[in-house]
Amino acid sequence: MDGLMQSYPLTLPPVLDRAERMYADRQLVTATATGVERTTYGEWAGLVRRLGSAFESLGLSERARIGTFAWNTARHLALYWAAPCSGRVLHTLNIRLFPEQLTFVVNHAEDEVIFVDRSLLPLLWPLVPTFATVRHIVVMDDGAPAEIPDDPRIVHFADLLAGAAPMRYRIEDENLAAAMCYTSGTTGNPKGVLYSHRSLYLHSLSIMTEQVMAIRQSDVVLPIVPMFHANAWGLAQAPVMSGAALVLPGPRMQPGPLAELIESERVTLAAGVPTIWMAALPMLEGRDLSSLRLIVCGGSAVPTALSEAYRAKLGLPITQAWGMTETSPLGSMNNLPPELAGRPEEELAEIRSRQGYPPVGVDVRIVEPDTTDELPWDDEVTGELQVRGPWIASAYYRGDGAEQFTADGWLRTGDVAAVDRSGSIRLVDRTKDLIKTGGEWISSVDLENHLMAHPAVAEAAVIGVAHPKWQERPLACVVLAAGATATKEELIEFLTPRVAKWWLPDDVVFIDEVPKTSVGKFSKKDLRTRFAGYTLPTG
Ligand code: ADP
Repeated sequence: MDGLMQSYPLTLPPVLDRAERMYADRQLVTATATGVERTTYGEWAGLVRRLGSAFESLGLSERARIGTFAWNTARHLALYWAAPCSGRVLHTLNIRLFPEQLTFVVNHAEDEVIFVDRSLLPLLWPLVPTFATVRHIVVMDDGAPAEIPDDPRIVHFADLLAGAAPMRYRIEDENLAAAMCYTSGTTGNPKGVLYSHRSLYLHSLSIMTEQVMAIRQSDVVLPIVPMFHANAWGLAQAPVMSGAALVLPGPRMQPGPLAELIESERVTLAAGVPTIWMAALPMLEGRDLSSLRLIVCGGSAVPTALSEAYRAKLGLPITQAWGMTETSPLGSMNNLPPELAGRPEEELAEIRSRQGYPPVGVDVRIVEPDTTDELPWDDEVTGELQVRGPWIASAYYRGDGAEQFTADGWLRTGDVAAVDRSGSIRLVDRTKDLIKTGGEWISSVDLENHLMAHPAVAEAAVIGVAHPKWQERPLACVVLAAGATATKEELIEFLTPRVAKWWLPDDVVFIDEVPKTSVGKFSKKDLRTRFAGYTLPTG
């Protein structure tokens, strides 16, 4: 027997309609080079609607891919909604990609137009001749003095919108592609992930639940995560769905201005990768941060020492999230269950360093690599983490990377994890970053976590280096905190009681900075290249 409920497609236009009516006065704040610009959801929704007519006047095809090369701004957010609501596909371009990779993704996606912030035009313009399908470059003037070339492909955002009539949107098919985001290519060529209206709808609802971020009307949300990184972690949709105010940092992504924004705009929830939170801490100390209720951090492992420093200095530890571009990106969130309240802080710190609980809608399993044999959830046994659910990719655009999907319908994350009896995930490492030594492996994440707990260490990344006897041995690459000193021997001594003896790095090198990826994670790939021929003292 079938249920007798309406078959209501889960699409974005009704969410837009609702926000326009119900949250018309709610604030959208964008930081600019010189101050802040304020708008409301009501005005913003008008822009979203006029963009639909603008796309028509540009002659974009019905299912065109619309590229954006932009900071986190209210205009960028309008494109985030206008593209899918008009039946087209938003394609966020990572402004920090290498030129060849940008050319690759633009051509792979066959973008017809790119909307670019004027301040970023000098980065994009030299590549335009390499873009095979791009017909228009729409410049969004953010007041930067960057020169705008006199070229028939250039369109000014203001001119395009002048006279554009507001559009009412309707999408019938919830499975229609709404947005695409390429993986940042840490592990090979970028691959295209295609979100649907339905997946974004359900993912946003999940972000609004208590088990995830509990985003609500009274929130003031600051997505520090760039809007081009993994679907802005859902923070371009969930606030619009829940009526939360948004504060968008624009080009002011430096720790000082971010800290200022959190204080002056009374931000309640902010989200970014660990390197951002590491840099921001000194800028946050001494400010009135009483509005802040949730600091979300993910993208790579959150060092225990970092979360603890936030707890000690600001009274608010970091809440860790795990996810991937392929998982929209929310895969798990480490909100501690109520029965842990009152436990000693050291114990809680340990628990907070886990990746946490998958929300309803994300199924998780760990398997013996290259099999479908499920491993037990005893927090001891580790295996490849696999996930499935309505906002988890089923394939990459154009069939790339088919090996990342199992025959029985799961996404292979490329992460190695253990899961405890309550379902909390503990990520051990990325498969590619594990250090293989004498038939066993060492978790680089664990070693880094311990090293970064040393007061003299600002950043630490551990990589495997070739070893004649053991295949690979760990090399610790350490950045000392400003003005601090430590020797290799001191650091090894610090690690000795904390890890198995055979895990101790064979060498420690002191470097000025750990190289970062285009989304601000430690780039082990670059470190491995840099230390490719390194001879370990034991080798
Ligand atoms: P890229 O693979 O190019 O870095 P993503 O941002 O999609 O692009 O990266 C997803 C990966 O980031 C995950 O597979 C995992 O290895 C890592 N990651 C994300 N969140 C966490 C976390 N909280 N702890 C450890 N690793 C994480």
